[in-house]
Amino acid sequence: MNHSLAKPLALIDVLRLLHITSINFLRKLTLLFILIFTVQIISFSQKKSYDKVEFYIKPKKKIDSTFYKTKIQELDSLFGKNKILPKDYRLQCLIALSFFPKLKEIPIQFKLKRISTTMQCRPSFKRLVGKQPHNYKLYINKKNNFKGVLINEVPFNAQIGLIGHELAHIIDFESPEKNHLISRAMDYCTKKRKKKFEHCIDSLTIVHGLGWQLYDWSFFSLNNLKSSKKYKKFKSEIYMLPKLILLQIKTNAIYKLD
Ligand SMILES: [Zn+2]
Repeated sequence: MNHSLAKPLALIDVLRLLHITSINFLRKLTLLFILIFTVQIISFSQKKSYDKVEFYIKPKKKIDSTFYKTKIQELDSLFGKNKILPKDYRLQCLIALSFFPKLKEIPIQFKLKRISTTMQCRPSFKRLVGKQPHNYKLYINKKNNFKGVLINEVPFNAQIGLIGHELAHIIDFESPEKNHLISRAMDYCTKKRKKKFEHCIDSLTIVHGLGWQLYDWSFFSLNNLKSSKKYKKFKSEIYMLPKLILLQIKTNAIYKLD
């Protein structure tokens, strides 16, 4: 055998042996890149929507409705002043209010209404023009064909978390900072600002002691089988996810004793 004639196999020879011409190879390589790129885009867009059930961590501290039912008169005399409460959610509202003693004197009217979200906080005209006393309306959705989650579709503990979040909005609206309301109005202009603002409100709810209730609200509203994908996507993009709420609970000293 003449060793001088034996050449090492070049890449092109290997490709030929594998019946792949350079043009074919380039075509296949291009197709492979397109495929990888497409898969990445699909998986990225899927990550943005919340469509999987997250593992539920049983809250360490749940509010017991049986115990609180016996305390309703006491709660009413302490936190029911200047408040108009809905008959069906009277206890839940009073319990949530007890976590926000700063709101004791502020007139708040809870009202059942057909709205586009589960609950909504509205400052009065007086608040907007800076006149005292400020008062607020908290609307609770009663729309039967609502594509999201209604308050009566989540457990008692989660209902308190939802009401707590809306009360935290009032705490925020009451900020004495100059131009605070203008800044809040601006927060509704972009998704990025809205997310930052709603995360602030969720944090405020957690520091007031309703972290486990907010966790329950977040979990049950995102994992409700009846609500639309659009509602869940919006919820998961704007508000804190259960995982983040859990992290804030774990790092906050007020929950250490739970
Ligand atoms: Zn909010």
